Amino acid sequence: MNKDKVYYLKEALKEAEYAFSENEVPIGAVIVYKEKIIARAYNQVEKLKDPTAHAEMIAITQATSYLNSKWLYDCILYVTVEPCLMCAGALLLSRISKVVFGTEDPKSGAFGSKINIKSLGLNHTIKIESGFLKKECAQILKDFFKKKR
Ligand SMILES: [Zn+2]
Repeated sequence: MNKDKVYYLKEALKEAEYAFSENEVPIGAVIVYKEKIIARAYNQVEKLKDPTAHAEMIAITQATSYLNSKWLYDCILYVTVEPCLMCAGALLLSRISKVVFGTEDPKSGAFGSKINIKSLGLNHTIKIESGFLKKECAQILKDFFKKKR
């Protein structure tokens, strides 16, 4: 099963590479339902001039539209970086079953790094897994910010 996680995170990483090539902070995400990718997205905050246009948010909208449902039960989000508080909140609202992320975000990660949204005892629980493809997911961010400076 770990092979699947690496495979889907690689797909998320491809999205992060698109973001990089468009001068966006390189974070990418895919949502998988019954082993099929039903959403793929990357961060588009600059392009859309929208602070909420994170990869996860765009992927959630795509997936709900694909499933024609406001819930994402039995779906798994694969994202290159630990989601922020906004995205973690949106993921809880979506009732998604699991989130797999590549690398932690010590500055704003909401699944354990900066805060842990799970500790708030909200009414939905998301399974969290991390650490797959960690180096690659972190490296693309490092490269991006190095280029920016
Ligand atoms: Zn976010």
